[in-house]
Amino acid sequence: PSADLAHARAALREVFGFDSFRGVQDQVVARVLAGESTLAVMPTGAGKSLTYQLPATMMDGTCVVVSPLIALMHDQLRSARANGIAAATLTSADADWRETMDAFRRGDLDLLYVAPERASQPQFRDLLASTRIALFAIDEAHCVSEWGHDFRPDYRQLRPLMDAFPDVPRLALTATADAHTRIDILTQLGIPESGLIVAGFDRPNIRYAIRDRDNPARQVAALMAEQPGPGIVYAPTRARVEKLAEQLAAATGRSVLPYHAGLPPEQRAANQAAFVASEDMVIVATIAFGMGIDKPDVRFVAHAGIPKSIEAYYQETGRAGRDGDPAQAVMLWGASDFATARQRLSEVDESRRQSERQRLDALAGLVETPGCRRGVLLRHFGEHPPERCGNCDNCLSPPGVTDATELARKLLSA
Ligand code: ADP
Ligand code: MG
Repeated sequence: PSADLAHARAALREVFGFDSFRGVQDQVVARVLAGESTLAVMPTGAGKSLTYQLPATMMDGTCVVVSPLIALMHDQLRSARANGIAAATLTSADADWRETMDAFRRGDLDLLYVAPERASQPQFRDLLASTRIALFAIDEAHCVSEWGHDFRPDYRQLRPLMDAFPDVPRLALTATADAHTRIDILTQLGIPESGLIVAGFDRPNIRYAIRDRDNPARQVAALMAEQPGPGIVYAPTRARVEKLAEQLAAATGRSVLPYHAGLPPEQRAANQAAFVASEDMVIVATIAFGMGIDKPDVRFVAHAGIPKSIEAYYQETGRAGRDGDPAQAVMLWGASDFATARQRLSEVDESRRQSERQRLDALAGLVETPGCRRGVLLRHFGEHPPERCGNCDNCLSPPGVTDATELARKLLSA
């Protein structure tokens, strides 16, 4: 294995131009090269793609990558090809599927990206049997679990497909899985418990703050003044996105663009490209924005309303400060957010209601804690952080218990 890792380091330099592995990348790559199935839980931006792309260039045969979103696959395809890796996608959006299948059968591909719905097609199994498969990589693997925050029934077809190729190792990747979900992913994908690798979740350069959402436009404008550089503001609806973008542009005179699914595709693509290229632009967006975006210098992420879950919050705020420089995550919330979310629970399918409710309760715990925010986040992901991080609102200015009792005493004596 150490010889394998030495080769991997050489390939890391040659193919990707990187000097060293980050975090647990080397552990994951070593397992993959040794043919051992693995579930790697690594934070957003930790470099999960590399843990299958690099072995794919070193191993005999093709690495088949399952990914839930066509847009994500095409981003990955572009960056893999830019590094000279022989890669292709097989999706409903590709016109060149014949050429792709031919290249795959000839064994010319290092990487083949496919959508999960392929997994249940008998022809796809035949296609895989026609050549040598080096590795199955399952990206966003939490989609296989009903406990995860983004269940996709198609992911359940992956196990039977992979079981037809028992000698091919499996690599499942996710950024967001609590302890319960991890065990479920292992079971659902047939990976032994000894194959679990978990990277640290802490993002020490992100300062977390969560406060009351009164006058969100004023609060975000103040944040923009205090924290120059690119920022992302998440708002719950298209209408709120549009309005907030206008208010912020008017209040700050800075370049602020909207992003949501209701905009024409060209406009959306243009706004995203402008944001990625800019050094000081703010984008106001629904959660449709951000997946697969790799912009290292985002200085703040603001939420004008609660996110869907702690996992979603961690993933969305994780887009800030990937370059390691100081960044801020500010959530503005109101009691009505939780009321609306609880209302929606009644419309959720019975089978999912309990896990949705737990998710909401966990989020409420984060929002309402008088203690360290980072502590709540990290404990949610199974870590044992110190009591205080020193870089969240509650650590920097502890909510005044004394103030509250003082106030109560005054009210009582009045
Ligand atoms: P994830 O899927 O875990 O969110 P990505 O695979 O998209 O992360 O990688 C995030 C960024 O980190 C990419 O720009 C990638 O090129 C970069 N990266 C990955 N591994 C390394 C490394 N060992 N050294 C430097 N940069 C890396
Ligand atoms: Mg990724």
